[in-house]
Amino acid sequence: MKTINIAVDGPSGAGKSTLARRIAARLGYIYVDTGALYRAIAYDMLQHHAETEQEIAERLPQLRISIAYEDGVQHVLVNGTDVSGRIRTPEVSMGASRVSAIPAVRQFLFALQQQLARDHSVVMDGRDIGTVVLPDADVKIFLTASPEKRAMRRFLELEEKQPGVQTYDEVLADVIRRDEQDMTREISPLRQAEDAVLVDTSDADLEQSEQMLLDVCKEKLKL
Ligand code: C5P
Repeated sequence: MKTINIAVDGPSGAGKSTLARRIAARLGYIYVDTGALYRAIAYDMLQHHAETEQEIAERLPQLRISIAYEDGVQHVLVNGTDVSGRIRTPEVSMGASRVSAIPAVRQFLFALQQQLARDHSVVMDGRDIGTVVLPDADVKIFLTASPEKRAMRRFLELEEKQPGVQTYDEVLADVIRRDEQDMTREISPLRQAEDAVLVDTSDADLEQSEQMLLDVCKEKLKL
């Protein structure tokens, strides 16, 4: 059976995960958060003090990354241990951006992501889904918003979970640094696929953004 694949790419804090999850629920597809896979690898590398590219590449064969769903929420497991609760710290965010620039890491996750899209109809969010992982996706969306808006959203999210851990200015600096790293890396840099629809959520609230995305999907899928 042919599955339907929707690719949602864009910089951090554009609202990809919240919106992709909502769209998936509305369409009855599985939501795949690929950032969580890179974060899981970064978490493991931090735990094992693997720092250089060589140390990281050497550890990969010992890793089994898998995902599971509980009440529709994606959990990511490293060698059977659920690390979902530990991968949202600023340290893991920066680590994920760093490990994701390593070719061996991208290759390692490539097969897993493609397999998921073959087995299920998915809304998959990431940085290179429409360009590299699922170049034949039925719908491609490039979701963005201004760095200030994205930093404010991240800041409010962090404040809710870990109040006082970072100031707004620190979050904004991280967002800009991470954009720079993700857009200028040699392998699979963050960029809009030629056939992706650009959706800018700078001036839209969650409901409006969701509607914008749904409209694109419905038009492309002729629903
Ligand atoms: O989306 P999220 O912020 O969780 O992603 C964490 C990091 O993983 C990003 O900064 C990016 O460097 C990397 N990433 C990637 N390719 C993807 C998804 C995430 O390089 N498809």
